[in-house]
Amino acid sequence: MNTKEKNIPCWYELGWDEVTKSLILRVHKDFAKNSYTFLDSDSIIQNYTRDFGFSSYSQDFSTDYFGFDDVFKRRGDVGEFIEYEVKISYIGKEVVCNFCSCDAENFFNKPCLFCGDSKVMISYDFKHTFAVSASFTTFFILASWRRYEKTSSNQFQLFEINTTTQRGLNGGSLT
Ligand SMILES: [Zn+2]
Repeated sequence: MNTKEKNIPCWYELGWDEVTKSLILRVHKDFAKNSYTFLDSDSIIQNYTRDFGFSSYSQDFSTDYFGFDDVFKRRGDVGEFIEYEVKISYIGKEVVCNFCSCDAENFFNKPCLFCGDSKVMISYDFKHTFAVSASFTTFFILASWRRYEKTSSNQFQLFEINTTTQRGLNGGSLT
């Protein structure tokens, strides 16, 4: 929260769509029109693409997608804002437990910690989740670069958010 200024015209909003289970990002058109962009050679884009294996990155607000691997999908215009949805879905997948199946001697003499002896455990693929997180990180950086330029919105920017995306943070990416 910026406590040094007041009544800053809104340049983005975040929300939640319970029906589609999507995060909602609304970007003010004044922001979209004049936004800074990263260069393809910028280290943040190169490092995220390399470290997480993303296929693409888009930051052109005139197209239907924003972010890595097209995770922000444009839904249309809502007044003076461009609205994007970010689908959030379950990332678990049932797989054969590879902890107890090869364990001839049950060390703890208890049910398997990973499958409860059902031989089926849940494996998680975080690639989409990292694409969502990294896309928000890059968006928030672009937004922060324009914090002193005003939009025409009569709503206020109540919060400014900054995040980072990195493996092994265990959910602690909000700064
Ligand atoms: Zn098991």
